[in-house]
Amino acid sequence: MISEFPHLIDLDDHPVSWWNGLLRQAQDILRDPALYANSCRGKIMGTLFYEPSTRTQMSFQTAMLRLGGTIIGFDNPQTSSVAKGENLKDTTKIVSGYSDVLVIRHPVPGAAKAAALTADCPVINAGDGGHLHPTQTLTDLLTLKCEKGTLSGLTIGLCGDLLNGRTVHSLCKAMSKYPDNRFIFISTRELAMPSYIKDVVRAHGCTFEETESLEDALPKLDMLYMTRIQRERFPSEEAYLAQKDTYILTTKKMKLARPDMIVMHPLPRVDEIEVAVDDDPRAMYFKQARYGMYVRMSLILTMLQSTAKTELLRGHVHSGIVCRDPRCITHKETYLPRSFTGTGTTLTCEYCDERLLLEH
Ligand code: ASP
Repeated sequence: MISEFPHLIDLDDHPVSWWNGLLRQAQDILRDPALYANSCRGKIMGTLFYEPSTRTQMSFQTAMLRLGGTIIGFDNPQTSSVAKGENLKDTTKIVSGYSDVLVIRHPVPGAAKAAALTADCPVINAGDGGHLHPTQTLTDLLTLKCEKGTLSGLTIGLCGDLLNGRTVHSLCKAMSKYPDNRFIFISTRELAMPSYIKDVVRAHGCTFEETESLEDALPKLDMLYMTRIQRERFPSEEAYLAQKDTYILTTKKMKLARPDMIVMHPLPRVDEIEVAVDDDPRAMYFKQARYGMYVRMSLILTMLQSTAKTELLRGHVHSGIVCRDPRCITHKETYLPRSFTGTGTTLTCEYCDERLLLEH
């Protein structure tokens, strides 16, 4: 299914040259924001935030305001018709009809793609459950470009909740597309990186290793990406408590790292980085959040100026097959066409990327 709008659901919807152009434009905006102050005058951005957010929501809003545009939307679905039982399709149809670009954050994997299927304007995925977070990745790429001067040949450590962390999934997929990057996945076995992400890394010829020891990994890294253990994605409080506090970056551990290593974090931080680390010049997470605003300015502009179409569903509809991930949007919004890529016994859900092995 091809949509007539230039959506951003997954960075893979666009070639690397498009990401690089967007990053270059973000750097231009950073150099001279005043030049862009009226670029979106008269345009309206709709924001549908079904899940809590500080940075993503406010940086999108500030980005649009700094481009001269205006914003509408909700940050608490309980104050909208969602509380009356309105489905995602109807809410999207209505708000996209009022807006020039729509930003959606949703707790369910695949929700952004589902929204794009019915929207009457470009849709930007601002995080869909534990699945993807492409605009955080654009933020991360801009931070690396500005602070390390390159997106290639880096050793990147990702630490914490690699199972549920959508930011690390999107970042790994993106950095695999640049040459000679190497990954070290630092997590407990229970929160290890999903196999579909490891497959992507391998397919692009990048290498990775897995370890449970932050101390062992630290001396090897150009960048350490810390993440929060995501309480809201655990099946029970007990399962969360068993993982909480496994990895805490302290000033003592920072002594093991190279002087030019940088520490990034999508934020919010809970307690995985000791507050005293903030004073270390290698702590980049607050600056990273600010880069996010500039990259979102660049993205909004690009979405509003582009006439590109997006291929949203590439595979085949199998009405009799159900996605194996119980959290997938297709279980909640049952009108959605159950579309899968792949052939034979291996199919991949086009909404949440869950793989299904069929028995014949
Ligand atoms: N802000 C990030 C996200 O929305 C990371 C987090 O919530 O821990 O995924």
